[in-house]
Amino acid sequence: MLNIVLFGPPGAGKGTQATKLVAKYNLVHLSTGDIFRANIKGETELGVLAKQYIDKGDLVPDEVTIKMLESEVEKNGDAEGFIFDGFPRTTFQAESLETFLSNKRTEITVMLALDVAEDELVKRILNRAKDSGRADDADESIIRNRIEVYNTQTAVVANFYAAKDKFKKIDGIGSIDEISERLYNAIEK
Ligand code: ADP
Repeated sequence: MLNIVLFGPPGAGKGTQATKLVAKYNLVHLSTGDIFRANIKGETELGVLAKQYIDKGDLVPDEVTIKMLESEVEKNGDAEGFIFDGFPRTTFQAESLETFLSNKRTEITVMLALDVAEDELVKRILNRAKDSGRADDADESIIRNRIEVYNTQTAVVANFYAAKDKFKKIDGIGSIDEISERLYNAIEK
């Protein structure tokens, strides 16, 4: 299996690039943000809970997020591989994913981390807010909180994969196609 963790701060372009990787490598795309938003829209119990955190730009608690992610993997038993987008976002999530995948006799192949400077992130997210309809995209203080949460809780997850020699940093500035090429090269070498 090819199991990719697509990593990087909010606004780095994970969703855009995930769509391209899915098409090229025939993977199942699991975006925790998208799954939460679908639950919010459907007013499920999970959605009601997640919304309280997402609207502030905070992380949804690990326990809830991990359970949801695992059930999504279980639903796709015949997948050739997965792109994890927005997960793991804490070291505890990374450890849980490792245990879970090893019980399924598989593992993460590589973490690809999109590298983009903070000012560019804020610009991209505010621009995306014009048509994303996401409350957490429209307000600069919430965006700054998401970046702060990324810096304090999520960035360290890179160390977890670096220690296993599975971490690759990708320059996230350029055209969509240029960045895709960098990702393909990183996967194939
Ligand atoms: P972005 O990468 O632009 O911040 P996402 O769509 O990945 O957007 O996530 C939106 C929000 O969903 C996050 O700010 C967070 O509140 C919640 N969320 C997504 N993934 C996770 C996760 N793995 N753990 C906890 N919360 C998460």
